[in-house]
Amino acid sequence: MVITSAQFITSAVKPSQYPAPAFPEVAFAGRSNVGKSSLLNVLVNRKSLVKTSKTPGRTQLINFFLINEALSLVDLPGYGYARVPEGVRRSWGPMIETYLSKRQVLTCVALIMDIRRTPKAHEFNFIDWLVERDLPCIPILTKTDKISKSQQIKQRSAIAKLLGMGLEQLILFSAKKKTGVANVWRAIDRYMKDDAVPS
Ligand code: GDP
Repeated sequence: MVITSAQFITSAVKPSQYPAPAFPEVAFAGRSNVGKSSLLNVLVNRKSLVKTSKTPGRTQLINFFLINEALSLVDLPGYGYARVPEGVRRSWGPMIETYLSKRQVLTCVALIMDIRRTPKAHEFNFIDWLVERDLPCIPILTKTDKISKSQQIKQRSAIAKLLGMGLEQLILFSAKKKTGVANVWRAIDRYMKDDAVPS
C-alpha cells in the first residue's frame, strides 16, 4: 500500500459532526494504551498523524482521517482506562455504539488487542455486538515484539481459541518493528467495495 496522502479531517462526538460519508471507512477500536495510535501511524506511514496517548484515555473523541483521498480511517476512543471520570466513561459506550450502528459507509472494524493479554468480557461483548450487526471484525494482536516468537505462536493460538476464530484471522503486528502492515491492509482490502486501497 503506497500512501500518497494522509490527513486529519475532523473529530466528532455525535453524528451531526461526522464528515460527509463520501469514502468507505474502517474503524479502529481497542483498550486505552493498547497501541492503537502507534498502529495507525505505522499503517499510514506517518510519524505522528494520530496523537499517541502519553496520558492514556485522553483521546475521547472519534477522529476521522482521509487516506489517499479514497479511504477513511476512524480512530475510536480507547476504552477501559481507570482514570477516566465515570461520567465520561458512561458517554463513551453510546458514542461508539451510535457511530458503529449508524455509519453507512463503515465497511469493517479493526479490534486491536495486546498479544500479551487474555481477551476479557469487553472483547467478547464487542465481537458479539459486531457479529449481530453483520459488521466484519479484523482482530489484530499488537506489541508482538515484546514476546518471543514461540510465545507469539502460543498466545495467538490461545486467543484464537478463546475468541472462537481461526488462527489465520488474527493478524500479528508490531508498531515498533513495523511488522504486519501488509497483512492489515490486505484484510481491509477484502472489505472494500471498490478500489479504495491501491496495491
Ligand atoms: P493507544 O492509547 O492505544 O493509542 O496507544 P499508543 O499508540 O499511544 O501506545 C501506548 C504505548 O505503547 C506507547 O508507549 C507506545 O510507544 C507503546 N507501543 C505501541 N505499540 C507498540 C509496539 O508494537 N511495540 C512496543 N514495544 N510498544 C508499543
